[in-house]
Amino acid sequence: EREQLKALRRVPAVTRDGTNVTLQANLELPRELEAALEAGAAGVGLLRTEFLYMNRDDLPGEEEQYAILRDLIQQMGGKPLTARTMDIGGEKLATALSKHFAEPANPALGLRAIRLGLKEPKLMEVQLAAMLRAGAHGPIRILVPMISSIAEMKAVREMMGIVARRLTRRGIAIADPLPPLGAMIEVPGAALSADSLAHACDFFAIGTNDLIQYTLAIDRGDEQVAHLYDPLHPAVLRLVQFTVQAAARRGIPVSICGEMAGDPRYAALLLGLGVRDLSMAPGNLPLVKRRVRALDLVEATRRAETIMEQSDSGRIAALLDDFNEAAG
Ligand code: PEP
Ligand code: MG
Repeated sequence: EREQLKALRRVPAVTRDGTNVTLQANLELPRELEAALEAGAAGVGLLRTEFLYMNRDDLPGEEEQYAILRDLIQQMGGKPLTARTMDIGGEKLATALSKHFAEPANPALGLRAIRLGLKEPKLMEVQLAAMLRAGAHGPIRILVPMISSIAEMKAVREMMGIVARRLTRRGIAIADPLPPLGAMIEVPGAALSADSLAHACDFFAIGTNDLIQYTLAIDRGDEQVAHLYDPLHPAVLRLVQFTVQAAARRGIPVSICGEMAGDPRYAALLLGLGVRDLSMAPGNLPLVKRRVRALDLVEATRRAETIMEQSDSGRIAALLDDFNEAAG
């Protein structure tokens, strides 16, 4: 079994009927890249940059962030990097920032991610500068977490333009053309307005971890309600489907990068809903690839249609189990 999974590293992620699927890695630390490439990742679909801010009393500067991103891109040998601006705030508030901000009444609903980034533009500008500069060394996309409105997206794009012009004026090399700028779809309101949000985005990355948390009002870290945290809840699936359809209508790429994307049980459903790009913890890549390679996409699409008519997530799970078992 282990040998079988190992052999999967070098074969393409293609369905039985010949559709290519992009399987990428989520990284929390740059040093995880090696394992990701080893497991055959097509790229890094989500680089969480929170590590830059943790366990220190100061803030990471532009040079430091640039050097880390540049090294990463250089090790990737032309494979694409999707770098996410910091998702700090709430309980993940960095020491260097915690002095400046009041303890949030509700961390999950408070000053977090892009909300913090727009309140403290310097934080964003430093990150955008580092990312634009790293993009001179290889393909990069910039991803913004916790987007809930088109106004936030426009503000980030404007900021990116200003930072780019400033760097260019100083004769510093940056990505040319400017990198694609995308939104995490992880707030239900963003998912429900995905069709209009798409006008301000070059791509979407659906973050199912937070999307499930906020849709079902279940704290993703709270043991006492963990049994209610349900990726197959019809409401979650409808938001995913609506987002995928909106992206297709507007002609922008969409990926899924929550834990759901790394679970082979869900791969058939996500592909059946039209997703062609999944990003996951490196360790999950072989199992998901195996499921993709056993998949008949026409059948998966038909099954997904049936699943989307269901109102009970237990029934949905049973239908999905049936389909997965039939594939062996
Ligand atoms: C998500 O919310 O699904 C996601 C990928 O982001 P994070 O887990 O870092 O919040
Ligand atoms: Mg998230």
